[in-house]
Amino acid sequence: MYEFAVTPAVTQIRRRGVEIAAVTSGSLGAELELEPGDRIMRVNGRLVRDYLDFRFQAAGETDLVIDIRKHTGEDWELNIERDEAEEFGLSFEQIVPRQCANECLFCFCKGNPETARPSLFVRDEDVRLSFLYGNYTTLTSITDEEMRRVIEQRLSPQYVSVHATDLDVRAYLLGVDRQRADITAKMRQMLNAGIEIHAQVVLCPTINDGEILRRTIYDLAELHPRVRSVAIVPLGLTRYLNDERLTAVTSEFCRQTIGEVSIIQDDLRARLGTTFAFLGDEIYLRAGRAVPLRKHYGDYPQIEDGIGMVRSFANEFDALLRRLERRPFRSPEKLFGTVMTGTIFAPVLSRQVARMNRRFKTRLKVVAVENEYFGGDVSVAGLLTGGDFAAAKDQVCGDFAIIPRVALKSDEPVMLDGMRLEQLQDQFDVPLYAYDFATFAAAIDSDLVYARRDVVGEAA
Ligand code: SF4
Repeated sequence: MYEFAVTPAVTQIRRRGVEIAAVTSGSLGAELELEPGDRIMRVNGRLVRDYLDFRFQAAGETDLVIDIRKHTGEDWELNIERDEAEEFGLSFEQIVPRQCANECLFCFCKGNPETARPSLFVRDEDVRLSFLYGNYTTLTSITDEEMRRVIEQRLSPQYVSVHATDLDVRAYLLGVDRQRADITAKMRQMLNAGIEIHAQVVLCPTINDGEILRRTIYDLAELHPRVRSVAIVPLGLTRYLNDERLTAVTSEFCRQTIGEVSIIQDDLRARLGTTFAFLGDEIYLRAGRAVPLRKHYGDYPQIEDGIGMVRSFANEFDALLRRLERRPFRSPEKLFGTVMTGTIFAPVLSRQVARMNRRFKTRLKVVAVENEYFGGDVSVAGLLTGGDFAAAKDQVCGDFAIIPRVALKSDEPVMLDGMRLEQLQDQFDVPLYAYDFATFAAAIDSDLVYARRDVVGEAA
């Protein structure tokens, strides 16, 4: 996910200060004659390294001295008085991510085709982006300055890839020595300063499963509630990531893991009042098991990591059907089209869509799209590419086709293979929409799916 957030940063060179990308007209920034390309160098004498620094140093201050390097090369010093709540109306360049110093066995960068976009090879390991976007870091190379910043600026929560609390196993998985792998003191420093942590385990059969996993969960549970949750997600192999030290996740492995971890979850729920250690949805789907009920997930602390998405989707779909019961479709026969998704989610979506078709006489079809681009056991919707959708276009029927919004960059209608949505549209004979569930539900709610060609533009 985060890959999308860093794309422009790959080509940036670190410079001092932070560059203004846009200024809202009529805002305080515009009044101060700030312009795109200007750089904010200091606030009240303190250096600004990025927009987080600017936000932190300007927050709550009513009297400010801001040093600006204009895009023309001039230096300005602005003395500002403002109301506490008055916004500057500025947006900034993206943060240039710090790179990791690990050699993880399962690193996703090794799983990319050689032709993948450069941004897919960015090995980000950045506590700022962990705070901003929920990206995981391993903390193996966090500097003292970064640690001070996390604590001073309250960059909480942090998302930490622990993988195993057994040091030998962690070092092996990360490709670093034991000393570097040991983050016990760093985690304690954060936790003692009131920074919350969500942890992650990428579960690799025969390496950090079984007893190692059990110990990892219990060691982290000792740190609850400051360690708030643990996400356990399965290793994903692509056809390019074929390290012989890695063993593929199988359905049988998933069933065994569910059996082992559910005992721990029951124990922790009784003692901590929370499930605490959550298995990724993919583990249930690959095991052929139903995902747990809503209450299992609490406030869905790791939904961005694929934990509870299926349950949340099922509940939202139920709510949509209830709304439609109260206000049936005006023209259900016009809801005749195809919804494309990844193979892992397709059975879940098919069941829900079949209920809708039966009850409301709509004619939606679900197509499970194979991931040829990455191959291996990659089956999630978010990693499907333009080429994958195009290869499945002959299975489309009806008046429109929907692809998952998550397959596009967050800020541009481009897929992982570089194909733009308009290019994909050119290969389809029917209008193509990029929807997330909220957009899908809203379109169905308003009977507009069939008529909204403009949604392609909206997705942009
Ligand atoms: S921490 Fe590991 S998985 Fe993440 S980018 Fe670095 S090497 Fe890859």
